[in-house]
This record gives sequence, C-alpha cells and structure tokens, in this order.
Amino acid sequence: MAADPSTLAPLDLTRIRQDFPILSRQIRGRPLAYLDNGASAQRPRAVIEAESDYYQQHHANVHRGVHTLSQEATDLFEGAREKIRRFLNAASPREIVFVRGTTEAINLVAQSWGRPRLVPGDEIVITWLEHHANIVPWQQLCEQTGAALKVVPIDQRGVVDFDAYLAMLGPRTRMVAIAHVSNALGTVLPVEQFIAAARERGITTLVDGAQAVPHQRVDMQSIGCDFYAFSGHKLYGPTGIGVLYGREAELSAMPPWQGGGDMILTVSFERTTYNALPYKFEAGTPNIAGAIGLGAAVDYVEGIGLERIARHEADLLAYATERLGAIPGLLIIGTAPEKASLVSFVVEGIHPHDLGTILDAEGIAIRTGHHCAMPVMDFFGVPATARASFAFYNTRAEIDALVASLGHAREMLG
Ligand code: PLP
Repeated sequence: MAADPSTLAPLDLTRIRQDFPILSRQIRGRPLAYLDNGASAQRPRAVIEAESDYYQQHHANVHRGVHTLSQEATDLFEGAREKIRRFLNAASPREIVFVRGTTEAINLVAQSWGRPRLVPGDEIVITWLEHHANIVPWQQLCEQTGAALKVVPIDQRGVVDFDAYLAMLGPRTRMVAIAHVSNALGTVLPVEQFIAAARERGITTLVDGAQAVPHQRVDMQSIGCDFYAFSGHKLYGPTGIGVLYGREAELSAMPPWQGGGDMILTVSFERTTYNALPYKFEAGTPNIAGAIGLGAAVDYVEGIGLERIARHEADLLAYATERLGAIPGLLIIGTAPEKASLVSFVVEGIHPHDLGTILDAEGIAIRTGHHCAMPVMDFFGVPATARASFAFYNTRAEIDALVASLGHAREMLG
C-alpha cells in the first residue's frame, strides 16, 4: 500500500546534497544549479565508491573463474541483479537482463522478440510522445518484416488519447510499446490501464521506463507488462548500464540477440546450445562495474525512499510551474494533469539554445533542443524547447535562480 504522503518525513536536502560531490561545484563563478536530470542525473558518493571499490579490491571477469577475485566479482555482479529484481518487484533474477541502457533494451526486444515473428500486415502501436529510442527500433523492425507502425495521438496538454488507443488495438496488433513518462513533456501515462487493455487482447507489451524509475516506485506485478526498460544513468547510477526486465515466459521463447561468450552452454562447429536466462542475452564480458554501481544507486534511492522523493519532486514541480508560468511570454509545453518533475517551455522571441547559453553563464544547467522527441516538437509547432528537469536534490532556491536568470535573458534578448 502506498504511504500517506503527509506522514512522510521531509528530505534533509543539506545532508542529501553533501552526498553528491558535483553539486558543490562552481560553474563560471556561480554555484551550479543542475536542472538537467532528465538527460542524466548526478551520482552520489555511494555509487562512485562502489565502482571504485570494485576496481580497487575485487575486479576480475565474472562467471568463469574459480579464483577468489572472479568469485567476488561474480557475487557483486549477481548481487546487483538481485537488488534490481527487488527494486522492480520482478518474479526472478532470470527476468533481469543487463544491457547498456534503455536504447539497447528496446532494440533487443525489437530484434529478438519481433524480427523472427512479425509478418507483413502485423501492427506495432506506440504513442506520439515517445523518445526516438522507442520509435526508431520499431520503424527498423517494420522495414525488416513488413509490419506497420501505428501512433496514438496526444492532445494539446500532452495527454495520450486512451479512446484512440483502444480503437487502434486490432486483430493484427502484436506489440504495444509505450513510455511510462514522457521526457519531453513530463506526462505520466497510466500504464497499468494501457497494459491491461493490451493484455486482454493477447498483445505483447513494452514500457519505456527511462523517465519513470527515478521518480516513482515501479512494480512489474502491478504494471503487468511483458518488458520494461530503463537506464542506470538517469537513476543516479553509472552510464553504459541499464536493465531490460522481461517476463520469463517471453524471454525463454526468444532467440539470443547477440552471439559470443557467456551466452552459450556448449559450442561446436556443428551446433551451439544457449545458456539459461538471463545469460542467454548477455553475450560477452558485461559492464561489471556499471552493474555494481547501479546496485548501489538502487540502494541509495531506496534508502531515501521513493515516496519521499516523489513528494519532494511534486513540490518542486508545482513551484516551478507556478513561477515559470508567471513569466510574461513564457509558454509551458506539456500541461498534463499527471506530470513527472520536469517543465518544458519556450520564451517568446528567444531561441531555446540562446536561453541555455545565457543560463549556463549563471551556473544553471538546463537542456535545450528537441529532446530526442522530434514528433512532439512537430505536434506543438516548435523546433525546440528549454527543459528544466528536477531530481530530489534540487531546491526551490535553484528554481528561483532559474527564474531570475530567465529574467536576465529576457532583458538581454526579449
Ligand atoms: N526513453 C526515454 C523516455 C528517455 O528519456 C531516454 C533518454 O533520454 C531514452 C529512452 C534513452 O535512454 P538511453 O540514452 O539511456 O538509452
């Protein structure tokens, strides 16, 4: 049962911020206000030290050695997998595949699940607000198999049209692949509802959770999807590591994606037999340090509590929406009632890239551009937006600094 937010202890931000060495940096002589967490979050010392300790004390290749270091490395690596299984409430560590990130996870599913089984006339349903990582692999799969891509529309708030979605699910729909949270708009999709409708019709489902896992508890049993993908670096973990959760029955029925060491049981020139799950999908030496670092990130986030994180971030979102919304000429893009803690916006007469440059001169890091979601930009008729995306270590004072800096930009260029 979800905790009552009003009973949760507030975050001790002074202490928390001390856990992140980079947050005390000065940028161009000003204190850093890091508001680009949607692109990549910062790492707490616990993650940096877990990786460093692994390299200093335990490094060897995993799974293959009888010597002590190899066993220690294997225990740490598999221990991280178990932490992630618990974090996602997956049924078994066999359902946790380490990959490079969300992008690789989705490509793995498109190629291993989709390529051998889709035929011309089959359909894949995505939504208008997807990141390119949840568009392009499916387009490539369509080119390879003759399947067709169907796109569920959004409205002017950035909410996905559920009725249009239902109407799009047909006898040829084989896959529904949807974001949990939009990186460009912040919209939180009611994924349980979307997935249930697909499953009732026997359709396989994938959720792109890249922007969800840092902000809310995600539970594979209640979401009910077949696949769920996320990246370590947005969850305060290392870059180059991510997770594909796959329901065991689905993963078992899929051929390996890449061939090589670790994913085999036996190899002869006549025939190769494949390893058990999840190793069948982990060809070659994995990112051992990355997985261990990601395990440490999960421990760190759990230590703070996702419910407390969500409450603090909801406060930041409300405050930022109010303060930014009061700036003349500033238009917020993405006003869904359920949003994660990010605000995309444009300012009349100022290109987002110019805004980003002026803000950087005052120590404020935001993202400007199309956010790898060009169809969203087309929908709203803008080439780019500025985006401030918040983590639990951000403060109202940083939002005040952002607002002040936007004021300076308007004086200079507006
Ligand atoms: N999906 C969403 C919603 C994202 O925001 C991102 C990254 O911004 C990705 C997928 C791709 O993640 P990665 O580049 O870590 O593979």
